[in-house]
Amino acid sequence: MFYSTLSKFNWKQVEDAIATATLQSVERALAKRENLNLEDFAALVSPAATPYLEAMAKKSRELTLQRFGKAIQIYLPLYLSNDCENSCVYCGFNRNNKIERKVLTASEILAEINEIKKLGPFEHVLLVTGESPKASFEYLMNAVELCHEHFSAISIEVQPLGMEEYAELAKNGVTAVYIYQETYREETYQKHHPKGKKSIFEYRLHCPDRIGIAGVRKIGVGALLGLENWRADSFFTALHLNYLQETYWQSKFSISFPRLRPFEGQNFELCTPSDRELVQLLCAYRICFPDVEISLSTREAANFRDKAMMLGLTTMSAGSRTDPGGYTVSKTELSQWEINDYRSPAEIEQKIKQNGYDPVWKDWDAAFR
Ligand code: SF4
Repeated sequence: MFYSTLSKFNWKQVEDAIATATLQSVERALAKRENLNLEDFAALVSPAATPYLEAMAKKSRELTLQRFGKAIQIYLPLYLSNDCENSCVYCGFNRNNKIERKVLTASEILAEINEIKKLGPFEHVLLVTGESPKASFEYLMNAVELCHEHFSAISIEVQPLGMEEYAELAKNGVTAVYIYQETYREETYQKHHPKGKKSIFEYRLHCPDRIGIAGVRKIGVGALLGLENWRADSFFTALHLNYLQETYWQSKFSISFPRLRPFEGQNFELCTPSDRELVQLLCAYRICFPDVEISLSTREAANFRDKAMMLGLTTMSAGSRTDPGGYTVSKTELSQWEINDYRSPAEIEQKIKQNGYDPVWKDWDAAFR
């Protein structure tokens, strides 16, 4: 399991190694044609790589075109529930927040699907819930069943489950599971996840292992940038990805790096990358992991996503609502996080085409199972 790999590293030493990376180490990483390692990743996310951003962007774009062609996958999240027993300090669904809690019924889920289908030819849906017994495994299985008829690909971003449960979900059509560690520094993790099951660092950390053992087709990992030194957290995400690729070679992988924005009650300084630094990170991931899906949600502004799509991004959400029932009756006060790209799916599709890329609504069929 990954914890034993993670334990071999010291956070401070990783921070220092990144901070003191040299121009030569960046040039060495950029000169390699293949088999880049974690040392190379550390160099590419370091401050020393800043003057090489153009070269990184060029290489990242070339690798993306080679591996993925001019294709951008489109998906949309369907929030099933905002009920949550955890108290992640940065989240709108935190159990301490006095908001109306909602768990969609079967007929409400169908109504949401109906509205989603009016927005565009969506074939990939991401089911999202908070962590609560109300969004149980059985509830999720029913939701997946309801989605079957309407979508070719069903992904989930829900509470950590057991290996058998993931295997059962995969058998019933779930094609990808996304689970983000938020931060890989255990003491910082404890500070921001004080209560509920999510406070158990190791249980969450081993979730991708359980997903891999269960044989799920795609596993998504990432860190929430802003909780800790983003360069070090990205290094540990890369370490995790590297470990998973070597251990669960039969699965595909996806990476996401949402940026945390200022939020109400925030009592620590955010360590969020700037736009330029986020481009650097995106390119570093692509150069070191040429085959992984790189996804950017509507948390990022339209302008940024439009540029990122030509540098290494392969997947983006469109028309998202982040509240349960949001496609039928939007109540933004129930949202998990603030959206920054409000364009309609048709506008996003248009922009992808204008950039010379093909919008891909469907890249999987249930018949492949
Ligand atoms: S981040 Fe997830 S687990 Fe944490 S409070 Fe929000 S919904 Fe719950």
